[in-house]
Amino acid sequence: MNAKPVHAAQTLFPVVDDCLQVGGVPLTRLAQRVGSTPFYAYDRRLLTERVAQVRMHLPHSLELHYSMKANPMPALVQHLSTLVDGIDVASAGELKVALDTGMAPERISFAGPGKSEAELTRAVAAGAVVHAESEREIRALAKIGEQLGIEPLLVLRINPDFELKGSGMRMGGGAKQFGIDAEDAPRLLALASSLGLATLGFHIFSGSQSLKMEAIIEAQAQTLLLAERLAAQARDPVRILNIGGGFGIPYFPGEAALDLAPIGAALDAALPRVHAALPQAQVSIELGRYLVGEAGVYVARVVDRKVSRGQVFLVTDGGLHHHLAASGNFGQVIRKNYPVALGNRMSASGDTETVSVVGPLCTPLDLLAERMDLPAAEVGDLVVVFQSGAYGRSASPQGFLSHPDAPEVLV
Ligand SMILES: *Cc1c(COP(=O)(O)O)cnc(C)c1O
Repeated sequence: MNAKPVHAAQTLFPVVDDCLQVGGVPLTRLAQRVGSTPFYAYDRRLLTERVAQVRMHLPHSLELHYSMKANPMPALVQHLSTLVDGIDVASAGELKVALDTGMAPERISFAGPGKSEAELTRAVAAGAVVHAESEREIRALAKIGEQLGIEPLLVLRINPDFELKGSGMRMGGGAKQFGIDAEDAPRLLALASSLGLATLGFHIFSGSQSLKMEAIIEAQAQTLLLAERLAAQARDPVRILNIGGGFGIPYFPGEAALDLAPIGAALDAALPRVHAALPQAQVSIELGRYLVGEAGVYVARVVDRKVSRGQVFLVTDGGLHHHLAASGNFGQVIRKNYPVALGNRMSASGDTETVSVVGPLCTPLDLLAERMDLPAAEVGDLVVVFQSGAYGRSASPQGFLSHPDAPEVLV
């Protein structure tokens, strides 16, 4: 039986002589270049193409921002900084990487709950836009602005009164630690004004990892309506309006890629009204996972092959400590397999077998693939986990069991 592509993601990467290529380099060669396994590899061309694809479908007047927490690798952020209109950061550490790209500071925005006074000071000093998430942050900004003699660039992060339905992660609607409740906005707009702060606009983010085109369209429509309501309560003209993102990518069997065309068409239809109501507003969308998730793979090497009571286990040098999401998040969710292949046996015409791919950690949760059909593998083969460009290395407990960290390459 021939090995079929396990997932559409796999077809993004070319295969030459049985070997998957990332950035035009065969994986076996790339492993030598990195010098060790496991590692993460990101494909520059796929990043560029993804940004172009998003821009092709979305209205020209809409700015595209990169949400850096999806993948903060400095070289990757640098590459994206030449392609997008802004970078959204969530810590002083991310702010530093974003500033190092040379992106204009007023195109860098800093959101996230619990920003410390030191972080706020660094953001104001840099001239970045601060998305305030609470009354305390607004008061701190006013004080810092006075101390530094710099006018803080203030945007209010709003916790909307709706959520992005069917999203993998709800980050707005109901009681949330994120943002200022929409109904509390008038009070805080007045407070900012009384402290001498101009409010440049609003940031409304309702959720993440949605593959439901209709739900995204509905959330965006509600976001724009809410923005107009908030603008009517504001004392200053709205200059910045970040309407969130939440575009998901398919990970598991049965999931289909998001269709951007209808989302673009709905925004095309809605934006003229917004531009008329808020003529000074620059409207932006923020995407993390969608821009980088499919452009990255995690590569580990088979170090042992065991049969236990009839079941084949491929033991690799990589696992949960580098790639928590692919392992199943510590068993918190019903586990499904990420798309996995043998990178050096991509068109293997020999036998396949049903195997579980595990890592070197002493926990049964250290799984990269459970009972998956793969070409018959040997020690030394390269296991590739697709859809690994977002929330991979930086979102994994690398300290767990004290194995080496996974290096990253942008090719
Ligand atoms: C995490 C986050 C994003 C990015 O979400 P993705 O699903 O990676 O696109 C965008 N905006 C905010 C406010 C976030 O916290």
